[in-house]
Amino acid sequence: MKIYKLPDDLSNSALIFDMDCTLYTHDEYAQTQTDLPINRLAQIKGKTFEQMNDEVAQYRKNWAESHNGQAISLSNTFLAFGISIEENIRWRDEYYRPEDYLEKDKQLRCVLEVLASRFTLAVVTNNTVSVAVRTLSVLGVDDLLQKIVGLDTVKVSKPEKIHFLKAAELCGCDIERCISVGDRYDIDIALPLEMGMGGILVDNVEDVYKLPDLFAGSNAN
Ligand SMILES: [Mg+2]
Repeated sequence: MKIYKLPDDLSNSALIFDMDCTLYTHDEYAQTQTDLPINRLAQIKGKTFEQMNDEVAQYRKNWAESHNGQAISLSNTFLAFGISIEENIRWRDEYYRPEDYLEKDKQLRCVLEVLASRFTLAVVTNNTVSVAVRTLSVLGVDDLLQKIVGLDTVKVSKPEKIHFLKAAELCGCDIERCISVGDRYDIDIALPLEMGMGGILVDNVEDVYKLPDLFAGSNAN
């Protein structure tokens, strides 16, 4: 975990969570979220999965090299291959199966209950709202995370300011009182910091479990 910045005053604050690989850690499921749409793209382009996978990887590598090493999201990568955000949304809703990989996380629930007593909680995800609700439901925390900004909410992929402005609006918090929590610096943290938000980079869900202790003794009421 790396804490980049926290608001000086944590009262009336919001925690804005990324979802995938932040609120759960499951390498196999995460891999399917890349492999399944690449397989669909390969079918459309008349290529093998391996050929398409190599092309996508090369595109992302080239993009990073021309953008100071930053990562590009999968949705924005697919845009470059001619797949619209609308089509991307349909694929996600059709292919992603959190129910097949994830299960109830009692520790996450306890942690979010503690955090919800002090912060307004929201989720900002490059997945669709439907996949987010299904994912949070499988994890057993859907009732605690009902403010969701998804790919289909804003029709653009993170990182864009609109995601975080929308989340702050849903939470009823000033942007300076919001803290973005996520597993990818370039996607989840860099822009929020630039916007004046706080930012916490997590390695996995185990780091999310540590957040109540992190905030214990802080000035949040
Ligand atoms: Mg993530």
